[in-house]
Amino acid sequence: MKNNLPIWLEDYFDQIGRGLSHHAFLILGKKGLGKSLFAEYLAEKLLCQNAETNDCSSCFACNLESIDDHPDYHTLNVLDGKKLISIEQFPELVLKLFETPFLQKNKVAVLNLDSCNHHGFNSLLKILEEPPKNTFFIFTSSFRHLIPETILSRCLNIYIKTPSTKDALSWLSEFTEEEAKMSLTLTDNCPILAKEYLKTNTMQIREEFINDISGIIKSGKDIVTISKKWIEELDTLPMKVEWMVKILYDTIKFHADDSLQKLTEDTDNISRYLSQNTHIEKVHNLLTQTNAIWSQFSSDSNLNKEYQLNSLFIDWEKLLSISKKV
Ligand SMILES: [Zn+2]
Repeated sequence: MKNNLPIWLEDYFDQIGRGLSHHAFLILGKKGLGKSLFAEYLAEKLLCQNAETNDCSSCFACNLESIDDHPDYHTLNVLDGKKLISIEQFPELVLKLFETPFLQKNKVAVLNLDSCNHHGFNSLLKILEEPPKNTFFIFTSSFRHLIPETILSRCLNIYIKTPSTKDALSWLSEFTEEEAKMSLTLTDNCPILAKEYLKTNTMQIREEFINDISGIIKSGKDIVTISKKWIEELDTLPMKVEWMVKILYDTIKFHADDSLQKLTEDTDNISRYLSQNTHIEKVHNLLTQTNAIWSQFSSDSNLNKEYQLNSLFIDWEKLLSISKKV
């Protein structure tokens, strides 16, 4: 076996059991909990030629550099320039799955359902209704509500939950505890995403974000500059707007219960201040608005992002501004 399962995923594998009597698995859960890792691990187990052995490392399947080099491992990726898997890609997969396996064992198809549209779901449904022999399907998704009931009911649904802080921290032990804790807070305790944050410059982006937001609330004078800068860093834009949403959520929580100690360590002072000094109805309105902008930015629509962001900043400044109250 090439992959080791992170500790919080081990139980899920035990739940499925060694029998692996289902032919379709759907692994569900938030982004950053390790769904793909789990899918790959399951695929390795299904393709291993010494399945009876607990820790096989000698068979052909287990000796491949990566599981997707295995001739009986199949997947579909989103093609360059596309947002979803194209309808033309499915017949190719179906054809391969009806062939005899190269290694006279199982065939495995691994697929992220979040990249499928309704054509894709229809193709999958057909093959799930009459699956080829010795073929296993392993699906992953962060958006269960977008999957048709007909697909859900044909799969063994496995829900990956957020791990305990202890397990998450021990998995992130290569970083300092302070860093690890901070990135877990920012990612709602999703360790894989937290690690991604720590390995890239996300924590630095976060620091700049807090400066920018404080600037908007304190004075409002930098709105145009900040907006220009955020638009230039388009990749991180949805994440920043999501962080804005989080500040407002925390504000509402602090307002409802002022005995709360901590919510999001590095922005708590902003949220707490707003909860004490702003009309909570305004915060609610702003939350609706910010949330709407976030989903537009995340869905990558063609709207004028700079204009939208500018007006959002103006509303934040207008409704939350400290300077105008003094
Ligand atoms: Zn093996």
